[in-house]
Amino acid sequence: MGKNVRNRMIKLNKTHNPDLKSWVTSANEDTTDFPIQNLPFGLFRHRGESGSFRGCTAIGDFILDLRAVNVECVGSLNTLASKGKQEWSRIRGLLSHALSNEIQRESIEPYLFPLKDVELGLPVVARDYTDFFTSYYHAYNTGKLFKPDEPVTPNFKWMPIAYHGRASSIVVSGTDILRPYGQILPVGENQPIMAPSRFLDFESELGIIIGPGNKMGETIGIDDAEDRIFGFVLLNDWSARDIQAWEYQPLGPFLSKSFATTISPWIITLEALAPFRSPAFKRFENDPPPLPHLTSKSNEKNGHFSIRIEAHLRSEECMNEILSSANYNSSYWNPAQLVVHHASNGCPMSPGDILGTGTISGPEASEAGAMLELGQMGAKPVLLSNGEQRGALNNGDTLTLCARCSDNKFRAIGFGEASGKILQEK
Ligand code: CA
Repeated sequence: MGKNVRNRMIKLNKTHNPDLKSWVTSANEDTTDFPIQNLPFGLFRHRGESGSFRGCTAIGDFILDLRAVNVECVGSLNTLASKGKQEWSRIRGLLSHALSNEIQRESIEPYLFPLKDVELGLPVVARDYTDFFTSYYHAYNTGKLFKPDEPVTPNFKWMPIAYHGRASSIVVSGTDILRPYGQILPVGENQPIMAPSRFLDFESELGIIIGPGNKMGETIGIDDAEDRIFGFVLLNDWSARDIQAWEYQPLGPFLSKSFATTISPWIITLEALAPFRSPAFKRFENDPPPLPHLTSKSNEKNGHFSIRIEAHLRSEECMNEILSSANYNSSYWNPAQLVVHHASNGCPMSPGDILGTGTISGPEASEAGAMLELGQMGAKPVLLSNGEQRGALNNGDTLTLCARCSDNKFRAIGFGEASGKILQEK
């Protein structure tokens, strides 16, 4: 087989068997995000404990300390990320065996703790964070608001566009988000004011966690790119649109984004996602084909992932409202393409680095992954079921992202959640 038709994507194995059950009974319920077919990696410590976080997996309503299968991770999962897919797969195999065989229950159970009794930590320490812009629908819908004549820039279909974000303000789900101050140019004025953002927004995204990175000067081939991916998390790229509107030209977003980014605590591995692959995005008629380094037969065939991501809003009056729901596979560029493009100039990536996919919006109006797009920049505020309106997020609002993968032939798996509550500025 020639280099371009090698298919190195992870094959299905017995850990994906939909009939496999766990002796942890809550893992066998249809609604759980964490059946035995998922086995994500995370970090925990007991509530009220001040020591280091340790590696764990999620199973039903419980977490299992990885020491149950003789795997030691302390402080972060960066070392595990650096080890590569054979090691991640070996641990997955051990966990699958230990949690499905009743005979192992007695030795494993002392390492099992209810999720409600533990605190989940930031799974990796990211040295660098890059955020892409890969949904054509998001690019088109938001571009149309600002530049109706040319909503999508000519480079969009040639490369996955990105900006460098701040790793220092990445926080784990459950962390409160303080409304940021910034420079804002009031409508009709020619002088900015320094004020709290009045247009706070979310962006519904996935985060790609880098596993073994690349050295400076080393590029990555398309069919090798997934070997550099440890897994996915949910990612909310909180955005202050009024600050962004004044600052973003000509170098892109800066303080409008860097005040906070929320990720979910569970890293869902590509092996767990193997049953939920889908083809690369089907380009529109007359679109150019990707340049050769950004495509391969294998990537065309199943380089994308079918992951339905939802954004939920809970306000002080409204319990839970679904704002949007979209499938990641409607994004124009897929994970391997992002990794290839990122390394194509020889820029190094390190284990634990995070690449945001960019806002995931599908073709329908209800599939828009940001308030900017859902409410058309405040022109058509989103009407909640209790009569409240939202053109932007209010103080006291909690925005939660969640995601699930389902397919009739396999057990559905979920991502847990990435949640944050907006607090009034100080
Ligand atoms: Ca973003």
